[in-house]
Amino acid sequence: MRKNIVAGNWKMNKTLQEGVALATELKEKLSNATPNCEVIIGTPFIHLATVSELLKDSVIKVAAENCADKESGAYTGEVSAAMVKSTGAQYCILGHSERRAYYHETFDILREKVKLALAHDLKPIFCIGEVKEEREANKQNEVVKAQLEGSVFNLSAEEFSNIVLGYEPVWAIGTGLTATPEQAQEIHAYIRGLVAEKYGKQIAEDCTILYGGSCNAKNAAGLFANPDIDGGLIGGASLKADDFKAIIDAF
Ligand code: PEP
Repeated sequence: MRKNIVAGNWKMNKTLQEGVALATELKEKLSNATPNCEVIIGTPFIHLATVSELLKDSVIKVAAENCADKESGAYTGEVSAAMVKSTGAQYCILGHSERRAYYHETFDILREKVKLALAHDLKPIFCIGEVKEEREANKQNEVVKAQLEGSVFNLSAEEFSNIVLGYEPVWAIGTGLTATPEQAQEIHAYIRGLVAEKYGKQIAEDCTILYGGSCNAKNAAGLFANPDIDGGLIGGASLKADDFKAIIDAF
């Protein structure tokens, strides 16, 4: 069964104390609610253990924003998938365009990260999407196809069933520009078609594909109303409990 999901991505924001305050506020706001979607917050590594403990009796699940491409050992400053899992987090955002662009995460590196996340029982939220020039040249379909083929279409069908996809046009991330619901639906349907070609109709039907890129309380309902848009990956608007809750309420 396909799940609807609203997932926050705090990025490199919030001290530990500020993050705990935000998670506490969100927990309180959702304490009497039965959201029509799964709710996830993606936090920096330093928040994971505390926030996972804080949210263990709530409907909110926790994601890391990254993990290492190595199992363990002499990789100073890195955080492994096993370490992430040990905090209580259940998901791991991988392939975010900021990591691809600023930290040079290649298809090969991401393939390793996805494999390790799955091996440690973390569900990857795997991000794909084109930059502005690629959209202007109408190359978005080939870009997302290459990203899927390069890092996740090597997985077995069973492994792939544990992946959530996030379509995030890079030109819409943090810019205030949003893909129109029509643009987003069109490419989400294309992505689902690629999954169907590779893994079959049932796995494609069950695959959650999130939209990300300046999604907010005003535009969320219009995006989520489309048959192939199963929720949102939310950056800026996940940093305020009221704004994030309003997006959850769009379902
Ligand atoms: C993101 O970084 O995943 C994102 C979608 O950011 P924003 O909502 O701020 O555009």
